[in-house]
Amino acid sequence: MTSPAYREYDHIVIGGGAFGSAACYWLSARPGSRVLGLEQYELGHRRGSSGDSSRYIRPYHRDRRYSQLLPAAYDAWRSVQSTWQTAPILFTIGGLEIGDGSAAGQQMITDLAAALERDSIPFESPSPAQVHARWPQFRMYGDEQCIYQGDAGFVDPRHAIRAHAEIARDRGATILAETPVTKIEHDSGRWVITTPAGEFRSPRIILTAGAWTQRLLDQLGYPLAITVTEEQVTYFGARTLSDFALDRMPTFTFRSDEPMLYGGPDYAGFGVKITQEIMKHTVAPETRSHQLDLGVVQTCKAFLSQRLPGVDGPMISGRTCLYAGPVDRDLIIDHVPGAPGALMAIGGGVGFKYSSLVGRLLTNLAHDETPQVDISGFGLARESLRTPGHGFGSICVWLSSAAF
Ligand SMILES: Cc1cc2nc3c(=O)[nH]c(=O)nc-3n(C[C@H](O)[C@H](O)[C@H](O)COP(=O)(O)OP(=O)(O)OC[C@H]3O[C@@H](n4cnc5c(N)ncnc54)[C@H](O)[C@@H]3O)c2cc1C
Repeated sequence: MTSPAYREYDHIVIGGGAFGSAACYWLSARPGSRVLGLEQYELGHRRGSSGDSSRYIRPYHRDRRYSQLLPAAYDAWRSVQSTWQTAPILFTIGGLEIGDGSAAGQQMITDLAAALERDSIPFESPSPAQVHARWPQFRMYGDEQCIYQGDAGFVDPRHAIRAHAEIARDRGATILAETPVTKIEHDSGRWVITTPAGEFRSPRIILTAGAWTQRLLDQLGYPLAITVTEEQVTYFGARTLSDFALDRMPTFTFRSDEPMLYGGPDYAGFGVKITQEIMKHTVAPETRSHQLDLGVVQTCKAFLSQRLPGVDGPMISGRTCLYAGPVDRDLIIDHVPGAPGALMAIGGGVGFKYSSLVGRLLTNLAHDETPQVDISGFGLARESLRTPGHGFGSICVWLSSAAF
């Protein structure tokens, strides 16, 4: 455990995953700010929401609250990349959306096309035959509707978290790994944070604790139920894996009347990524099973044999991962009511693409600045969190907001 530089800080960030590392990065960019980041495990661990080699990003969204964040989200990644040349962070390899012949599949593509037009984002609507001609890896059946957008792609979470943390440290931030916060108290206008490395004090704390957020909010006396579900990603091999390399195919989603499937090319030898949102295994971070849902693995295999038949190898790897968010599944970026100087952010199943921007927005809030984008839709006072079911101790289910 590294020795902390100080006991008193201007900002203490609790949680060093996607959002917490980004908060340390942007807070430490302010000259003279003493920033402490506390992470209970090693940085870049895989027990939370961010442990994977890719998280998808696209510059469009049906919901205007999210689409207006996306230009700033891309800018934030480009800004981090410009100061960290160790490894690539953002890969804009293009994204293909496929809706099958079902009414739901067609409607989803129609809605996405409308969102792209609304926001004046260039895109293509290739026919199934054109998709197959350009990316012969995809078998098409002729009744699909498709969209291709060239700025979509993915962020490498391993590189993103490392970049945020390394630069923050270079700027003078202290980031302590393997340092769990065990108690939070408010005393004489200061937050007192207890850890095995001792106590730390600050007028401002930022909760970026993902699936562990609810227990921290409990200590602040703020009743918000956070639903945690165990999701999974799987990677498959192919006899000719080079056909599925980064420069040969885009990321993709497949929309039908079943839950969405999505994936992307082989990156760094992990294999072709394919997964389906599950959102039914509600867990606690400590008691989750870490077991793959074999039904979903079968669904993914069936999809590959029907739609990407060249991905004919065995499953190379698969792991579970946590979605954590409020009942409406939307982002939260806000002050914690009744807890002076406390901020929080949580990302659910959609958050990684925004994470560097979220760190920047938290920095704005910590400095009482007006953020560059409208975050009023991500506040704790929103209507969807005031309905019965969001309260402390209640049983939550995910609402289907199709926020992906
Ligand atoms: C399978 C899957 C696929 C996804 N795909 C996408 C995608 O394609 N695109 C996208 O944009 N998003 C995607 N997401 C969502 C995205 O990954 C999350 O929104 C994002 O990673 C959340 O980051 P976080 O920092 O909130 O959580 P985490 O990365 O889990 O970080 C929280 C951190 O807080 C630490 N912590 C908790 N309590 C304490 C404590 N008491 N003391 C110290 N540290 C503590 C934890 O150890 C953890 O490191 C996906 C998520 C999953 C699970």
